[in-house]
Amino acid sequence: MRIFDPHIHMTSRTTDDYRAMHAAGVRALVEPSFWLGQPRTSPDSFCDYFDALLGWEPFRAAQHRIAHHCALALNPKEANDPRLLPVLEVLPRYLVKDGVVAVGEIGYDAMTPAEDAALAAQLQMAADHGLPALVHTPHRDKLTGLLRTLEAVEESALPAGRVLLDHLNETTVKAARQSGAWLGFSVYPDTKMDEQRMVAVLKEYGTEQVLVNSAADWGHSDPLKTVKVARAMLQAGFSDDDVDLVLWRNPVAFYGQSGRLALDVAEPGAAHEGNSLARGGE
Ligand SMILES: [Zn+2]
Repeated sequence: MRIFDPHIHMTSRTTDDYRAMHAAGVRALVEPSFWLGQPRTSPDSFCDYFDALLGWEPFRAAQHRIAHHCALALNPKEANDPRLLPVLEVLPRYLVKDGVVAVGEIGYDAMTPAEDAALAAQLQMAADHGLPALVHTPHRDKLTGLLRTLEAVEESALPAGRVLLDHLNETTVKAARQSGAWLGFSVYPDTKMDEQRMVAVLKEYGTEQVLVNSAADWGHSDPLKTVKVARAMLQAGFSDDDVDLVLWRNPVAFYGQSGRLALDVAEPGAAHEGNSLARGGE
């Protein structure tokens, strides 16, 4: 079984997670830029973060033979802080870099006018750079948030086929399916989607253009949820080919629209800019 986690925040995870993910079959992932919990106060902190997603984190992933790519953006929550708007000015020079396979995560958090503006600007950037976009849909007031997201996509220059609508659930999947966009489901422990609900959605809506992710981050989450969904699919009667479509070929097709996916992991070097994973000269 080969697994591609299309949305996971490895910055917040340990090296042991990388090891467990590889052992379970994860061979590729996309790490979208997001909110770090502690609010940032300067655009420069974003630049350092983007550099880490393009340098240190792919290096760390390569030690475990996992191909790491990223999606970069000003996230919806922090789009509300006017001090951070200059991030939108530096973003274009990051979007031309090799490891960037999408603009994201963008979208709505509290659905404010500032979020409207950041979303529209970044959908345009995706169109200008020939990149797909990873669009986070709100965790509260989900259907309203999804419909407003669909309006923003429709008004943008980016075709729906280059948009991944993420964090969908039973209340939003129908409208999302009708839009022609790709459908993303984040499977969490305890809350929101779980493996059995995910299998039921796949039975009802099919496997085409559906992606499943762990969205693991600094909160209660599980980087092996992708694998657990794959197992639940097999138990429910889906074939190995269905599992491969949802957990590998669909994410490859979606992010492959960037022209930048590199799924063969290069032999990892001993160090990244002089820093290694070893301690004390091991
Ligand atoms: Zn996320």
